[in-house]
Amino acid sequence: MWQEMNKPKMATEKGASRVLMLLGQLERLNEEPKVSDTDATRQITGKILHIIQTQEKTRKEVMSKGSSGMDVILSTLENTGDLQTTLNVLSILNELLTVGGGRRTGVFVSKGGTAILLQLLVSSSKDPLNEELMLHIHTLLFKVGPKDRKFGVKARLNGALNVTVNQAKHNLQNHKLLLPCLQVLRVYSGNLVNAVSLGKSGALELMFEIIGPFSKKSTTLLKVALDTLAALLKSKMNARWAVDRGYIPTLLAIYQDWHRNDTRHRHMIIRKSILGCIKNLTNIKLGRKAFIDANGMRILYNTSTECLPVRTLDPLVNTSSLIMRKCFPKNRLPLPTIKSVYQYPLPRILAGGPVAQLYSLPPGVDDVVDESDENEATEVDTENDTENEDDETGHKTQNDDIETDINKLRPRQMQSRPFDELRVYERFCLEFTQYFKDNDFQSPGSVMPPSSFDPNRHHPLIIPTTQNRRPKNIQPPRSNDSPLELDSISISKTLEGKPNPDLACSLGQLVLDGDVSVNGESGDGPQEESGDQAVIEVPDTAALLPLHDPDLYLEMVKGTRSVPAYTEVAYPDYFGHVALNLREPILERAYGVQSRTKIFQDIERLIHPSDILDRVVYDLDNQSCPILDNGESLKFNSKFESGNLRKAIQIRKFEYDLILNSDINSNHYHQWFYFEVGNMRPGVRYRFNIINCEKSNSQFNYGMQVLMYSVQEAINGSPQWVRTGSDICYYKNHFSRSSIAAGGQKGKSYFSMTFTVTFQQKDDVCYFAYHYPYTYSTLKMHLQKLSGLCTSEIYYRQDELCETLGGNSCPLLTITAMPESSSNEHISQFRSRPVVFLSSRVHPGETNSSWVMKGSLEFLMSSSPQAQSLRESYIFKIIPMLNPDGVINGNHRCSLSGEDLNRQWQNPNAELHPTIYHAKSLLQYLRATGRTPLVFCDYHGHSRKKNVFMYGCSVKETVWQTNVNTSNCDLHEDLGYRTLPKLLSQMAPAFSLSSCSFVVERSKEATARVVVWREIGVQRSYTMESTLCGCDQGKYKGLQIGTRELEEMGAQFCVGLLRLRRFTTPLELHNHNSHLLDMENDLKDPRSIPNITSPTTYVLEEDEPAFLEEVDYSAESNDENDPDFEPDLQDNRVLPDPSSDSELSRQDSLT
Ligand SMILES: [Zn+2]
Repeated sequence: MWQEMNKPKMATEKGASRVLMLLGQLERLNEEPKVSDTDATRQITGKILHIIQTQEKTRKEVMSKGSSGMDVILSTLENTGDLQTTLNVLSILNELLTVGGGRRTGVFVSKGGTAILLQLLVSSSKDPLNEELMLHIHTLLFKVGPKDRKFGVKARLNGALNVTVNQAKHNLQNHKLLLPCLQVLRVYSGNLVNAVSLGKSGALELMFEIIGPFSKKSTTLLKVALDTLAALLKSKMNARWAVDRGYIPTLLAIYQDWHRNDTRHRHMIIRKSILGCIKNLTNIKLGRKAFIDANGMRILYNTSTECLPVRTLDPLVNTSSLIMRKCFPKNRLPLPTIKSVYQYPLPRILAGGPVAQLYSLPPGVDDVVDESDENEATEVDTENDTENEDDETGHKTQNDDIETDINKLRPRQMQSRPFDELRVYERFCLEFTQYFKDNDFQSPGSVMPPSSFDPNRHHPLIIPTTQNRRPKNIQPPRSNDSPLELDSISISKTLEGKPNPDLACSLGQLVLDGDVSVNGESGDGPQEESGDQAVIEVPDTAALLPLHDPDLYLEMVKGTRSVPAYTEVAYPDYFGHVALNLREPILERAYGVQSRTKIFQDIERLIHPSDILDRVVYDLDNQSCPILDNGESLKFNSKFESGNLRKAIQIRKFEYDLILNSDINSNHYHQWFYFEVGNMRPGVRYRFNIINCEKSNSQFNYGMQVLMYSVQEAINGSPQWVRTGSDICYYKNHFSRSSIAAGGQKGKSYFSMTFTVTFQQKDDVCYFAYHYPYTYSTLKMHLQKLSGLCTSEIYYRQDELCETLGGNSCPLLTITAMPESSSNEHISQFRSRPVVFLSSRVHPGETNSSWVMKGSLEFLMSSSPQAQSLRESYIFKIIPMLNPDGVINGNHRCSLSGEDLNRQWQNPNAELHPTIYHAKSLLQYLRATGRTPLVFCDYHGHSRKKNVFMYGCSVKETVWQTNVNTSNCDLHEDLGYRTLPKLLSQMAPAFSLSSCSFVVERSKEATARVVVWREIGVQRSYTMESTLCGCDQGKYKGLQIGTRELEEMGAQFCVGLLRLRRFTTPLELHNHNSHLLDMENDLKDPRSIPNITSPTTYVLEEDEPAFLEEVDYSAESNDENDPDFEPDLQDNRVLPDPSSDSELSRQDSLT
């Protein structure tokens, strides 16, 4: 039968026909086991072996598809009791599997060859040992093992582990046999359960007997032994055993010996394998301690430093660096507590809320260094889920977060408050009831108290600086009825006594006049320093910045209430920022910045502790912290609106560790920074490290730079924030993060963001910020200037939505066009305009959202025909800053209640979340009066993605994403939610449609976007996210984003709304929350409408590809869970998957 099958081949190839014929004879012998013709079998297998050894084409023949050659061979192996026949068959298999890649081995495995071999191994070990047989079996097992996913389990269940260990033990001097045994052990030990078992059988001792100091002999053997050892040491139990027996110093000594003697770097692979063993040993706490005790830091530091110049030794440097970082003793942050420096007494503290929790902890508990490795169980989910960034769908690796309950997804029409209660919001909607007389066509303008301020006054001004600062008395928080006194604002630049000739020379337009200060009053404040003051005439930025006015800014600052009662004004906010004309490309990262430079400098802190100054130069926790004036230290300050530097420590002459303050009434959330630096030396490279960052990755690793503002440059006519800094990277550091501030997860660390800056000017004062600052006072100034742009065609009204917890006003704007006349027709058109509701800056650290809003507002107030047309089309309700208190006080995420306001929309508390409570109530009022907004959009910033994009809400796309059987739910959904993003992607260069998502996640169910969609019934309810970094598509591809682009985005958003108007039927305009718009479908690209199998908009993969220079985020105490973070290029063998080793797989593993 078998021969017939192969007849055609037999006819064409003579050689082939002979081997096939022989196999046929063999098969017949196998089929009749009674006829034990040992000699015949032996003879036939010998002939087959000979043919196969001499003719490659016969091997192909045997292994060809449809051939049963392998079955015959394996059957012979299984059934024969004859040693010579067994050896023949093993040799045949060896020949067959040597070439042909994985396919032939795959055939062998699929026919059950592994188990037959393993059984043969075990049974042979019972007889007097035959070395040749053992050699053949192990050689074959080594070929087969890596290709068999269940090899490890099969070997253990067949009892093969000990046979191989014993073979190796008894043949330590017999390298010919020892090598294949070790190779097989290496494969066995890839399975963690096997590793434990092998450890008990003495495999560890065995490896330590084989490895040793430098030798040019037996390097292959050594390499295999080291790799086996490294695999065995992945087991915690084995690692403890090895550490207990003092093997860490042994391995370090061996590594040093190879490092010294392998001068021509021929054995880099062996050296890396030694490090691999050390790396696995230091996964346990005991190992890290032994490593430190054995002087491991210094040894690896010194050897790596010597390796640095040789690029080919990078793997050694990288692995050493990884081990050193892991073993670097964990420290707590040098702070008395991680709670914010400032507390704000809340009107009420909700039991069980975050603030109650925060202040119920005894002092010190919040900040315990956790260096144990007892809690791996909690570390399975490291890195993924602690992020709290708004709308970061990209970071989730599973779909768990996506809402699957269709009923929950469907918009809910719920009336949470009776209309009588909502009626008070009528005062924010006067345009719907107001009657216009013909002589009454003036915009209502601002209903805020008019400012007595005269913008035309010009004061000589005193410039803020860090120079010569004296500790100031911190003022108690102001009460509501005592407005900030003018003289409590100190804007001073003192020039250390005599005017500096350089400064006077370089700042030609400075008018030095010590007699005048801002207020001219006597007493404390600037006057005291009047003799030393440099008073300058402010350059006229008004020409460059139509909406900016320094004097007006100061006026606005006076009404701004901050928790620390700030008395200083930051220069950039005062002077304003003129968008740069230069293009600022996304930075390309230089090779090895992180692993070769920064991390080594960090490790040197431990190696050369005497080089470390550790000098505190700025400390909010200790207000009496002396300001050193030794000329050797930078001077820091951030006691101004939106500032949030907590502490600065001089580490080396030109290096500083900086610590950011937590959000008020919180113990974490820091990413945003804004601070001032003075007393710098020009031309020197300063390194700054922000050491308490929390996010696990950052756009700082992908080309984003920090922003810097130079006062000297401003005075010289370039008042602007500029992207700056080199050698920027972001990586995990050795500062331990309390589990209380890390969502209960233990063993977490902070991250460092490091950047290097060279200052150009002497006697400069510079500011650094995470992103372009935009303070609350700036907003108020802009609004005042905007109201001045009002014409008789524009209806502009500014109301106070409410007062914030901190006593600041939250502005609400209404912008539309005045009715054309008081005729009924025109008044009716006026009142029937659909509402567009916009908000921004709920997250204080997302300053980009304010710049986008500024662009929108300016466009809406402009005189262009498009703007007029837009105003005639809609009534805009705009809350430009939902979280003024957070912005003022330098928070990154929260309000004064210590909570993320964009998680409070479901059930906002009137006392604790007033802006959200009243914004939502206003929306409820609009809905109750039949004016549900056509569009709602909340502007945000995104720290880990590029471009500008939107999140929306779609039942269908959410359901599709969860792969729920969609045929059950016959959904009819208006696709109108896609129109606006689609329009924007066609118009706005920074906007990327492919980054948009319309999936509703459970974790986002309390955000503005989802609540407004679900409860208010706004179908086009969006979050618009702007990058903090830059763009990777469109006109701005490869460039960092600036305020010009952000403002342009805000304007384009408005143009998009205008176009949306054209796609909206008159019917919808009157009743715009339920109808499917046929016209809108014209715009919809059929390809972009998701079909059931693949919605294109939901992106699950990481925000960025893995960085080439490996950022080891796992370098902490996660023993067995440590995935292979560093790709091992030397070792690309496919090892059995340890995860397949479970009781479940046991049954089908035995063949
Ligand atoms: Zn946000």
